[in-house]
Amino acid sequence: MAWDFETDPKFQEKLDWMEEFVREKVEPLGLLGIHPYDVKNPRRNALVRPLQEEVKARGLWACHLGPELGGQGYGQVKLGLMNEILGGASFAPIVFGCQAPDTGNAEIIAHYGTAEQKTRYLQPLLQNEIVSAFSMTEPQGGSDPTSFVTSARQDGEEWVIDGEKWFSTNGKWADFLIVMAVTDPDAPRHERMSMFIVPVDTPGVEIIRNVGVYGQEEGSESYIRYSGVRVPADHLLGERGGAFAISQTRLGGGRVHHAMRTVGNCRRLLDAMSRRAVSRKTRTGTIADYQAVQMHIADSYIELEQFKLFVLKTAWMIDKYQDYRKVRKDIAAIKALMPKVYHDIAHRCIHIHGSLGVSNEMPFVGSLIGSMVMGIADGPTEVHKVTVAKQHLRQYRDVEDAMFPDYSLIERRARAKDMYDPVEDFMEAAE
Ligand SMILES: Cc1cc2nc3c(=O)[nH]c(=O)nc-3n(C[C@H](O)[C@H](O)[C@H](O)COP(=O)(O)OP(=O)(O)OC[C@H]3O[C@@H](n4cnc5c(N)ncnc54)[C@H](O)[C@@H]3O)c2cc1C
Repeated sequence: MAWDFETDPKFQEKLDWMEEFVREKVEPLGLLGIHPYDVKNPRRNALVRPLQEEVKARGLWACHLGPELGGQGYGQVKLGLMNEILGGASFAPIVFGCQAPDTGNAEIIAHYGTAEQKTRYLQPLLQNEIVSAFSMTEPQGGSDPTSFVTSARQDGEEWVIDGEKWFSTNGKWADFLIVMAVTDPDAPRHERMSMFIVPVDTPGVEIIRNVGVYGQEEGSESYIRYSGVRVPADHLLGERGGAFAISQTRLGGGRVHHAMRTVGNCRRLLDAMSRRAVSRKTRTGTIADYQAVQMHIADSYIELEQFKLFVLKTAWMIDKYQDYRKVRKDIAAIKALMPKVYHDIAHRCIHIHGSLGVSNEMPFVGSLIGSMVMGIADGPTEVHKVTVAKQHLRQYRDVEDAMFPDYSLIERRARAKDMYDPVEDFMEAAE
């Protein structure tokens, strides 16, 4: 009997330390007008590096990675509990060495990279000396990779990349980009594209502009043009034609980590709305006395607990199987659930705060937009629901009878009769 919902007390001590450290020291960094990923900014580094050292000294740096890569190898369940704390503070993932998209990029270089790629790109990335971007989505196509046209052709000992990419998060801070390009247009659908490591200062890489998500003062979703960009042949990442499989490895972990951080964001929203409910005075008491407000609190608590348990169960399955493909259905399911839970809780939080809730003095409208981002980034909700349905329906592929499936009362009555008639006949005869 292995069910257990308790956190090991030793690890709980670490989580308790994290709660206070993030609240007291890390959260304020997000209010100074510097960007967590601006690794070339001396002011940012003077503030962030000592905190990263503190985290390292506590043995909490890059916990998602195994000891061979400088992490603790804690696995996804522990990372889930940690990310719940890190979720609400913009600098927290950087301070703890587990920030997207670098985590996913590090994961695929660790998995598919050559020894040289690991030394040149992975090691400095893991130390947060540099940051990276993942350059897959194109202006004319995101959800459907078969619409990608950015190409790479081999020319002697080099690859030459041409095309445009869109929403390459942090392209402007990155030292290198992981670019997905068509190398074999006539190959089967899932074998047409390959991945390349492209240093951002390679001639021909041009950041056209940095798009911002609505409400952001400064955008970091880079719109990048690649014009005759030449990289050496050894900058191919993994096998030629292997980009699709590699991106699935990458995005599987990324989606779970987004969900874990979203649990943290929702927890803060529930905390904020609860504080407001019990402290906002009315003629007769506080707004927490109204049943309608109680419904908002109850729905938020119920949805958050369901979501959190689902996320942790999915994390537990990843730890158990060590293979994202075996957990595809549940990863897609929590990805599809995440924007709805986040949106609904953010909306209630805003509503309970009244005018203050929609103001720019509170962060809640940002959460609402964040919930919409979660429904699009790493693939739209519809696509993930299709994955859930397809995976779920696999177990029913042998069912053929559309008129009288197993639940038909007529069928079941007939079967029950066939089963028990002989017994009843026997008892009758015995009487
Ligand atoms: C903040 C943010 C950060 C991002 N970071 C990165 C990054 O670092 N690197 C990167 O490469 N990309 C990144 N993306 C891009 C992201 O992966 C794409 O936005 C996503 O895959 C959707 O593609 P699209 O925007 O082109 O939407 P489209 O593909 O045009 O889809 C638009 C809408 O059409 C509908 N739709 C599309 N396909 C289907 C379908 N099969 N079934 C049903 N309905 C469908 C959905 O309603 C969908 O929302 C980021 C996006 C955001 C918002």
